[in-house]
Amino acid sequence: MHLTSQTVDALVDQLAKLPTIGRKTAARLAAFILKMPREEVVELAKALVDAKDRVKECSICFNVTDNDPCPVCESDRRDRSIVCVVEEPSDVLALERTGDFRGLYHVLGGVISPLDGIGPDELHIRELVARVVGSQGIQDPIQDGAKSETIHSDGQVQIREVILAMNPNVEGDTTSYYVGQILAPFGVSVTRIARGLPIGGDLEFADEATLSRALEGRSGM
Ligand SMILES: [Zn+2]
Repeated sequence: MHLTSQTVDALVDQLAKLPTIGRKTAARLAAFILKMPREEVVELAKALVDAKDRVKECSICFNVTDNDPCPVCESDRRDRSIVCVVEEPSDVLALERTGDFRGLYHVLGGVISPLDGIGPDELHIRELVARVVGSQGIQDPIQDGAKSETIHSDGQVQIREVILAMNPNVEGDTTSYYVGQILAPFGVSVTRIARGLPIGGDLEFADEATLSRALEGRSGM
């Protein structure tokens, strides 16, 4: 005889698949969901399915977005000559929270990790190179030296700096080195955010002040 509900067990199984949720927490969440008003449970289920169905990748920066291109790539108030390279969309959120970065982003979708079978080809590195190369137009002949921004006929601005903001761990270091090497021939300044971040720490969980300082103290590769 089943002492507990198989339906509840199935819910606990699903919840326990989520990161950081053990079976104990999953059971607590399931009990909470059972007590929620039906309409709230429907809203929760709808939000999950909507997120899966509607959210897509920006075709320029690979951040998650409802509309392609994403609001950052679309904005005319961002400095299009600087691109900050991050591992995951959650890192974009962390950097946006600082309010200090006015450039554009490029989300790699992970880091190089041979043990997990993730090589450069599994990440959006090729697309980053294409972005940098694609932005290198013919120098504007009427530039006045001080303000030497290269502007294409289609309004695209030359990328002058690529900031690497990978997490400070072995995979992050490996990925930064690789991306730095691959961008080296293209005449773009490649910098890496300062090590104000705790080694082995996660960008996503760094407080805004630490992240701002790390961004400010970036150095050449
Ligand atoms: Zn974008």
